[in-house]
Amino acid sequence: MKSLLSIFLLLIVSGTLTSCKLKTSNEYVANDTISMKLNDFAPVELKTDISKLTAKEKQLIAILIEVADIMDEIFWMEAYGDKDTLIKKLRHDDEIRLINIHYGPWDRMAGNAPFFRETGPKPPGANFYPADMTIEEFEKLGDTRKTNLYTLIRRNEQAELTVIPYHQAFREKVQQASILLTKAAMYAEDPGLRRYLELRAKAFMDDDYRASDLAWMDMKTNTIDFVVGPIETYEDQLFGYKASHEAYLLVKDTLWSRRLNQCLTLLPALQQSLPVDNRYKLALPVKSSDLGVYDVIYYAGECKAGSKTIAINLPNDKYVQQVKGSRRVQLKNAIQAKFDNIMVPIAREILAPEHLPDLTFDAFFTNTMFHEIAHGLGPANTISGNGSIREALMEYHTTIEEGKADVVGVYLIDRLREIGKIELNTRESYTTFVAGIFRSIRFGASNAHGKANLIRYNYFMESGAISRDSLGFYHIHYEKTKEAVHKLSALLLKLQGDGNYQQAEELLKKYATISPLLKADLERISRKNVPVDICFEQGLAILGINK
Ligand SMILES: [Zn+2]
Repeated sequence: MKSLLSIFLLLIVSGTLTSCKLKTSNEYVANDTISMKLNDFAPVELKTDISKLTAKEKQLIAILIEVADIMDEIFWMEAYGDKDTLIKKLRHDDEIRLINIHYGPWDRMAGNAPFFRETGPKPPGANFYPADMTIEEFEKLGDTRKTNLYTLIRRNEQAELTVIPYHQAFREKVQQASILLTKAAMYAEDPGLRRYLELRAKAFMDDDYRASDLAWMDMKTNTIDFVVGPIETYEDQLFGYKASHEAYLLVKDTLWSRRLNQCLTLLPALQQSLPVDNRYKLALPVKSSDLGVYDVIYYAGECKAGSKTIAINLPNDKYVQQVKGSRRVQLKNAIQAKFDNIMVPIAREILAPEHLPDLTFDAFFTNTMFHEIAHGLGPANTISGNGSIREALMEYHTTIEEGKADVVGVYLIDRLREIGKIELNTRESYTTFVAGIFRSIRFGASNAHGKANLIRYNYFMESGAISRDSLGFYHIHYEKTKEAVHKLSALLLKLQGDGNYQQAEELLKKYATISPLLKADLERISRKNVPVDICFEQGLAILGINK
């Protein structure tokens, strides 16, 4: 009865669709309805145990959320442009929810395909550059600040390219953020946090973040952390030069943080264990003073766009890394939310049943942690005199770096197991790692993490580490997976050390592709309505904090 009724309703609906135009303000390019696109994101409440927070910390959180909201507004301008004009064109709350998740009218989970017919393609340089700018034109521009992380490229009245620093381009907003951060500093009980917030307030006014990055690394005893500012360059898919604004508001998990820091004493030995010639590992492993586990209670800007970041490795400033090391931050509540809502249902759909008992949150959390540790290992710069790895590999850098971090992370877990420092067994580690490939591929081929996982999927298929049976279930061949992890780690580390742009391009061309079988698997997961990612319900009310 129910199915007959559904068919009947379907006929009515499809009849309506063919006989008249959609009554919405916008027509969809894809067949997916808005609600299906929204179902890709499982809503998760961002919470933490607030009973351990002091009254001042709760007030501090309220102010920092205001700053985060400003980062969100700035990121909208970087990714798209004028948000309000776009929203005025939309009639449905669901359309608004959708473009809020994607920060624009393009589907970040589907290669930035436009949601609406009248929307043109997304400019690769987002809104950091004029949409009509040619690469030749950019190359001719004499201003050396044009490749700076913290500048926009615009046209002046004569239509010539001109460089505008962020603190001028977003003057009003960064001033407001700066005032709020100064106010927040007064509520910070931890001296390290206070100093960091004060310096960050200053940095927004002149785009010099180094002093505040150094202060962030000096912060050791804080319970609250606030990662804020223009940080990652993923959004600039034209050159990878421009940093996007974002914010994470974090509450430390003291017990886990202490436990994980014990791993850091092993870094020099881990660097030496990498499967490449000595000349690729001459660099001292990036000195790491800190490995933190946090609950994230608020996301804003770049880190909230499309697929959500669940681990952070900062600062990006190489100078600060050399002097103070870097901090790896694991967002444990977000990781658990992704594992429960996405990883487990995907694995049930895609892995042969005998592998399912080996899919564990412990393994997922450990793999994620070692992904971050692996970011700090390998060559620090190219050994071929091509400058930094980022400069040499340009737009392929983030994909290669993320791919390296994934695979070298698991490689390191293998080494630590061999010397008895980690209890996690091989089956758990690899099973969870392989299931993770399918989770990440769904981020889409426009995303560095998505591309990195496509490369690994195809590489693992080619090397026989995984195989697909006629029913579409994947089997993991643990010995071959071990070999493939080893070989792919070596390949990516060497590629980075050589700074070989050509090889990076060929690697992506060969492996970052979706085969018809893989496409069918992804569609099978979609039909099961497994969410692609999570989205957040966040704020003071969710946390249970009164304003
Ligand atoms: Zn990473």
